[in-house]
Amino acid sequence: MNIDDKPHEECGIVGAFIPGESVARTAFFGLFALQHRGQESAGIATSEGDEIRLKARMGLVSQVFHEETLAGLPGHLGIGHTRYSTMGGSKEYNAQPLIANGQRGQIAVGHNGNVINAAELRVEMTEEFGSTFEKTSDTEVIAELFAKAPGSDWFEVSAYAMRRLKGAYSLVIMTKDQLIAVRDPLGIRPLCLGTLNGGWVVASETAALDNLGAEFVREFENGETVLIDKNGIRSRIWASARTTHAMCVFEQIYFARPDSILNGELAYETRQRLGAEVYREHPVDADIVVGIPDSSTPHAVGLAAEAKIPYTEAIIRNRYVGRTFIQPDQRSRAQGVQTKFNPMRGVISGKRILVVDDSVVRSTTITRVIKMLRRAGAKEIHVRVASPPIKSTCHFGVDMATLNELIAANKTVAEITEYIDADSLAYLSVKGLLRAVRAPENSYCTGCFTGNYPIPVQLEMNKMRFELASNT
Ligand code: SF4
Repeated sequence: MNIDDKPHEECGIVGAFIPGESVARTAFFGLFALQHRGQESAGIATSEGDEIRLKARMGLVSQVFHEETLAGLPGHLGIGHTRYSTMGGSKEYNAQPLIANGQRGQIAVGHNGNVINAAELRVEMTEEFGSTFEKTSDTEVIAELFAKAPGSDWFEVSAYAMRRLKGAYSLVIMTKDQLIAVRDPLGIRPLCLGTLNGGWVVASETAALDNLGAEFVREFENGETVLIDKNGIRSRIWASARTTHAMCVFEQIYFARPDSILNGELAYETRQRLGAEVYREHPVDADIVVGIPDSSTPHAVGLAAEAKIPYTEAIIRNRYVGRTFIQPDQRSRAQGVQTKFNPMRGVISGKRILVVDDSVVRSTTITRVIKMLRRAGAKEIHVRVASPPIKSTCHFGVDMATLNELIAANKTVAEITEYIDADSLAYLSVKGLLRAVRAPENSYCTGCFTGNYPIPVQLEMNKMRFELASNT
């Protein structure tokens, strides 16, 4: 499990079609740039035009792939995936890309998001297509649907799948000679298109395109299917797709890399605006502004500029603390925070500190940070959270902890202030959030803050439900 107190992102996907090149390395470096989106498993599938070759294992991208493994994945066409389990257990058999077979031959599929009607579709597809399901992820349902769906071309297949799938799905799909990329009709998860060395690449985030040296062309539209093969690139938007986005606003707050472009804007700048906005709503006097590194740094920089209070690095993060597979209890989490951060007494002692956090889930991190700052001699500690209180769980591919664990779902702001031992605490309002991300021109999903989701959802969802079902 992750030792931080953040919602856990879903997955990262890449796809490449570059004639004359071996794209396994492209997929590798694309996934490497998207490692923050999922650290449990990594996989790459490639083809030279004859057959799909696949390698997918548990572990970080750099642990799964080496020179020899990449050499065993030849071909100018490929897709890659890095996973955090949002539905289905953290098991090797759920590692992606997944393979499925149908009347159009074999396909490999990589998925970012969460399909909320996967259980119903499993039952329906067993009857309609005689499908059998061996794995426990919703991606298996998507792969099977794309493999078995009726349609005379991939656009028809994709339109059919969009009619039946409910939820969040950005997809990379390959046959032995075609690359297909799909963004769901609500545009909940990001997906972008670029060019590289005379070919095409798609990726969850533009930062991956930058790292590959690709040229960013554009973000995918809602409900868009892009098909790339030897005849070039074609695109079609599903007629029933919404014209406004319901992109996950947490991509803007925390998930995406700050150097990625989302809805036409650099996430770093959006995050600065979130910080500035929460200060405008809840000003307070302080000597220094401190961000909880690294994810809250842009928010803290924006807040400091608005407040005209110096932004200062006061907590140093151990950059080599990443993922630790430790027991998922509160004590272990607290220990993890201690290993991760070290406060600098000389900078902190005797100061009134304005601490900026991008989001608070359970409050483990902020509580430990405040304790550290007090031990280091802080005179006052004021906390500003650059997003609203998280009061509901996510149904679209983000692990948010359970409702019982979400501190803002169970305590008032005054109670949380006392619980975390801050001198003051304030969150950004939902209105302030929408102002900072420049909605409603582009609207967003704000479900975990407001309880209003872009499509109806069951209130509590268990990501392990297929596992539970198969165990009973
Ligand atoms: S509920 Fe929250 S985390 Fe989930 S998609 Fe909506 S905004 Fe994102």
